[in-house]
Amino acid sequence: AKAAGRNSVRFFDPSMQAQVRSRAQLEAGIRRGLERGEFELHYQPQYCEQGDLIGVESLLRWGHPDMGMISPAEFIPVAEASGLIRPLGRWVVEEACRQLVCWSGDSVLGGIPIAVNISAMQIHQDNFVDEILSALNKTGADARRLKLELTESMLVRNVEQTIDKMRRLRKHGVGFSLDDFGTGFSSLSYLKRLPLDQLKIDQSFVRDLLDDANDAAIVRTIVALGESLDLSVIAEGVETHEQRQALLEYGCRYFQGYLFGRPLPAEELLASVRCYS
Ligand code: C2E
Ligand code: CA
Ligand code: CA
Ligand code: CA
Repeated sequence: AKAAGRNSVRFFDPSMQAQVRSRAQLEAGIRRGLERGEFELHYQPQYCEQGDLIGVESLLRWGHPDMGMISPAEFIPVAEASGLIRPLGRWVVEEACRQLVCWSGDSVLGGIPIAVNISAMQIHQDNFVDEILSALNKTGADARRLKLELTESMLVRNVEQTIDKMRRLRKHGVGFSLDDFGTGFSSLSYLKRLPLDQLKIDQSFVRDLLDDANDAAIVRTIVALGESLDLSVIAEGVETHEQRQALLEYGCRYFQGYLFGRPLPAEELLASVRCYS
């Protein structure tokens, strides 16, 4: 049941149901969408205990001219299977860098990092480090404001090379967060070797936190792990005050979720943070 809710689709449109979106259709669509500029990034705010904005996560959106908004849960797997995640992922990183530059003069958004989701296929590319550095160079974005979100499962393969890539990027100031944490199989000794800045508690644990003692225990364990490894711990998918309160009690200090704000286009995020400040 947990896995089912993880990448839930919130772009439901009954008229779309009739359309069978075959993989080939999606593949051709992604290629065209890239050429025609149909993709955009939305940004979801992240807050600390005191209520200050501490970062945003970029989430990819595809506004298809006929099919409407298509969820990343639907097209990312196709992009990965077809290799189109390479050009798409490159576009995402560059777009996030352009946004960093665009916000750099803003008193609120100018000082915070953008977290970008990275696919396994991207990080395992030989020229991954060069691609990230070239996006930073090309746009003039500050590397210290770029954070990359990786998942545990992508780090089991080519461990040494991946650690080396992370180290090289960290030298420039790029940060790393381990997304969906707790759903994979990282051993402690392995986790200790990864040059990370942050653990992100998977939303499945947050969702059932109040009713499920096991999930509460997992959250406590992740917080303790973060403390002992000197990593910040952020919870995603926080939807209620009660969840936030429980997370605070377990020592979690950073939050992201609908309680604080949905992912929004850049201009709307800018307008909404204005309202709070
Ligand atoms: P993720 O990285 O785990 O992102 C969190 C997902 O939870 C996002 O779904 C977000 O909109 C949603 N979410 C945020 N707050 C809440 C909440 O309070 N409750 C609930 N139920 N959900 C919440 P989204 O935007 O549909 O993205 C789904 C997944 O697609 C992401 O999961 C990520 O794995 C992937 N993805 C999104 N953008 C990119 C991208 O640029 N590149 C790659 N490679 N993957 C991406
Ligand atoms: Ca996820
Ligand atoms: Ca993420
Ligand atoms: Ca996640």
